[in-house]
Amino acid sequence: MSRILIIEDEESIADLEKDYLELSGFEVDIEGEGPAGLERALNEDFQLVILDLMLPGVDGFEICRQLREAKNTPIIMVSAKKDDIDKIRGLGLGADDYMTKPFSPSELVARVKAHLTRYERLVSSNVKENTVIEIRGIKIDKTARRVWVGGEEKNFTSREFDLLTFLAENPNHVFTKEELFRRIWDMDSVGDIATVTVHIKKIREKIEFNSTKPQYIETIWGVGYRFKV
Ligand code: CA
Repeated sequence: MSRILIIEDEESIADLEKDYLELSGFEVDIEGEGPAGLERALNEDFQLVILDLMLPGVDGFEICRQLREAKNTPIIMVSAKKDDIDKIRGLGLGADDYMTKPFSPSELVARVKAHLTRYERLVSSNVKENTVIEIRGIKIDKTARRVWVGGEEKNFTSREFDLLTFLAENPNHVFTKEELFRRIWDMDSVGDIATVTVHIKKIREKIEFNSTKPQYIETIWGVGYRFKV
């Protein structure tokens, strides 16, 4: 359920807004003073703030400015004076909407719903999908660093994962053991190109049906390895 904070010092207005919003299924809190309202808007998890302009302590301009610096919570600013609304717009404080009192409570509810929908769409579109490589039954989730072979998850050490991913991302490209060692291991790591051979063997045991006849990572004799697609 979406939580909404009303920062409003006129009790009758705040109560009316609250009643209408609660009837629409929202959870609503009211703060009548600027400082307390600002503090709660900053520190608590509200999905939208309805902000009156003239408030005791800290006014709506300042609350809007500070809240916008810290969070993207949608803000609907309300004021009794049309001139003030123009002024707020002019200041570019980052409020999402403006309403002049008196307004109909159902108009407020409609705008609240519209802003919440828009904001949720914005937030969900920012959630990045994992980067996944899929090649013939092998699925590598680069973001989660997990690997599935034929639908079954297999465990890889960090180096094995890096080596497999590197080869799978550059299919049909032959890399020498030296190249692979340089790319996957730090320059100062202990080890040599024999380490690459050992890791390839371990990877094959996990991804190949028959590791003596590899279908994925091929050995190119005298050169190195390639991931076949
Ligand atoms: Ca007021």
